[in-house]
Amino acid sequence: MSDHSGTRSEADDVRRFWEGLGLPGLVDVHTHFMPERVLHKVWAYFDALGPLTGGVEWPISYREGEGERAALLRAFGVRAFTAMLYPHKPGMARWLNDWAAGFARRTPDCLHTSTLFPEPGVEGYVRDAVEAGARVFKAHVQVGGYDPAGEALDAAWGLLAEAGVPVVIHCGSGPAPGTYTGPERVARVLARHPRLRLVVAHLGMPEYEEFLGLAERYGEVRLDTTMAFTDFSERMAPFPRRALPRLAALGDRILLGSDFPNIPYPYVHQLHALERLGLGEEWLRAVCHDNAAALFGLPGR
Ligand SMILES: [Zn+2]
Repeated sequence: MSDHSGTRSEADDVRRFWEGLGLPGLVDVHTHFMPERVLHKVWAYFDALGPLTGGVEWPISYREGEGERAALLRAFGVRAFTAMLYPHKPGMARWLNDWAAGFARRTPDCLHTSTLFPEPGVEGYVRDAVEAGARVFKAHVQVGGYDPAGEALDAAWGLLAEAGVPVVIHCGSGPAPGTYTGPERVARVLARHPRLRLVVAHLGMPEYEEFLGLAERYGEVRLDTTMAFTDFSERMAPFPRRALPRLAALGDRILLGSDFPNIPYPYVHQLHALERLGLGEEWLRAVCHDNAAALFGLPGR
C-alpha cells in the first residue's frame, strides 16, 4: 500500500497551482474508478509490466480504497472528474455501466461515465446510458482490441454524435501499440461522424501530430493531456517541440486529464508538466478548468 502521510502537503501543492491561476479548482476528465476487483486486476497488470505499460516499470502512486481516492481528488480541489472504465471482452460493458451509474449517484462530483464495446446490443445499452444521464463515455481501442471504425460501433457513434456526449478514447499507440491503435481508424470514424465529440486520450501519444491534425480538421475533436509532457512520458514518447504552436492554437480544445490513480508520479507533476510548456496562464486556465467546464456545462468561474 502506498503511504500518503505526505498527502496534506501534496494537496497544498495542487491547490497552490490552481489558486495561482485564479481558478475555482480543476476539472480532470481522465480519472479511473471501476469495480474494485476490476481495478485490482488493472493494478496487477501494471505490476506485471504487461503490454499496457510498454514493459516499463510503473509503480502506481495512489493504491487506496475507492473512498480515499475520491477524497484525495477533493482535497486536490478537483471539482469534477470521471470514472473511466472499459471492457476487454464482450458481455461486460452493460455491467460496467450499471456500476458506473451507481458510482455517479453516490459520487456527485463524478461525471456519470459509461463505456461500450463492439457487440450485439451495443446501440441499445448506449442509448439506455445516455437516457440515464451519462455525461461521458470511455472507449479503449488497445485494451478492447477492436477496430473503432468497424461496422459494429457505427450506430453507437452516430447516437453519441447526435446526443453530443463526449467519448474519451484511448486510440494512440502508446505506451504500446495495439492492432487497431493509431490515427487512421479514428479518421475513418470521424469521416462518417464529423460531429462526434471524441476526446483523444493521452494527447494521442505517441502520434501527437496526427491526432492534433484531426482536431484541426474536426471542430468537435478534443484531446486530453493525460500523462503527456510528464518526465515519465517524455522519456518514452517525447512531445515534438515543433508542434507547440499547434497545441497553443488548439487551447480551447485541450482538456486536463491525469490517469489518477494509475500514475507512477505525484498528481501535481502533471500540472507542472503543463505549466513548463510555457504556453501561458490563459492557456492553463482553459486547459485545467474552463474547457471542460464549458463542455460539461459546469458552473463557470
Ligand atoms: Zn487512463
